[in-house]
Amino acid sequence: MTRTTAAVMASGRDAYREIPLYSGAHGPALPIDLSDNTNQWGVPPAAARALASLSPATMARYPAAYAPALSEAIAASAGVAADMVVTGCGSDQVLDCAFRALADPGSRVAHLAPTFVMVPSAAHANSLQPVAIPWRAGGSPDTPELAVDEEALLAVDAKIIYLCSPNNPTGTFIPPAVIERIAAGASGVVILDEAYAEFGGWSAVSILRRAPRLIVMRTFSKAFGLAGLRIGYALAQPAIVREIAKARGPYALSAFAEPAAVAALGEDMDWVREKVGLAIEARERLAAALREIGGYRVYPSAANFVMAVPDVRRLPDVMAIAANLRSAGIAVRTFSDLPGIGGALRITVAPWPLMSRLIDALPRPDRP
Ligand SMILES: *Cc1c(COP(=O)(O)O)cnc(C)c1O
Repeated sequence: MTRTTAAVMASGRDAYREIPLYSGAHGPALPIDLSDNTNQWGVPPAAARALASLSPATMARYPAAYAPALSEAIAASAGVAADMVVTGCGSDQVLDCAFRALADPGSRVAHLAPTFVMVPSAAHANSLQPVAIPWRAGGSPDTPELAVDEEALLAVDAKIIYLCSPNNPTGTFIPPAVIERIAAGASGVVILDEAYAEFGGWSAVSILRRAPRLIVMRTFSKAFGLAGLRIGYALAQPAIVREIAKARGPYALSAFAEPAAVAALGEDMDWVREKVGLAIEARERLAAALREIGGYRVYPSAANFVMAVPDVRRLPDVMAIAANLRSAGIAVRTFSDLPGIGGALRITVAPWPLMSRLIDALPRPDRP
């Protein structure tokens, strides 16, 4: 470290030194990117038209401070009041703001492990203490299952419980009754990250009315095909929404993001439903193909990706498999050692010709 760097670092925040800088894709972009769970079926057409029709003068002016048109549109489609909606620059930002607004520094955030990688980072960035509770493992060797240890989660007595359903990276769907029990038993708030809810067929928006501590987070980055525009939101009681909005501040949504998202909600729902249907079909077909190949533990998924864990006695490790796939022009997400699971591949589903190429490029097990 140079003297200048040392002097600069001495004025930094201690908690930040341990936070890893998020590293997305490594190396050059590959022709087939199955690594980030974005929509592989294209872009919603009305949103694209809305973007194209914006005057270039749009970029010289500030957008509305809190994206009121989008909040209204989300509220109408979710069947809640507009003061129960707060939007942000991706649900990543909304999550960060909720952590900052709803828990004092030093307090605990309980979450299941494994779950969304951003959660421990966002907790540390806000001087909160993440507490990981392992999933309860069950099922059969071929079809493993994961369940929520409700008692252990609630016993943390956390200011914030973070749940993700369908869960990233496992694909696990948390049953509605479990969500309701946790929301009723928690002493603080419960954040339910529903980034993949469209693929799971159920949303906790339907129970918001009787779960006052529940915060449901959604995004336009996955089923809606708008990841590049960075649009996410939370639905909760107005008092909670107001606090998150304070942490968020004005102008978080760009003047381009808001009209595109409003158009998508108004006119692209058939497109979204059609692509979600295709993604679910591809997911089930991919899971069946992986089981057929053998040697991979395939976790049941309610999302637009499948997690597969290669048996290290019969197959190369995940890093070697990913390197192989890369040379075939295919990117997947790898996890070298997930708690209780081991090395895993997370594969985003895509139109079948791409899935076929992936399946062809995967190694086969040595012995049956
Ligand atoms: C992709 C994803 C998000 C979406 O983040 P954005 O910031 O809205 O793009 C949120 N939560 C989870 C678990 C995700 O996988």
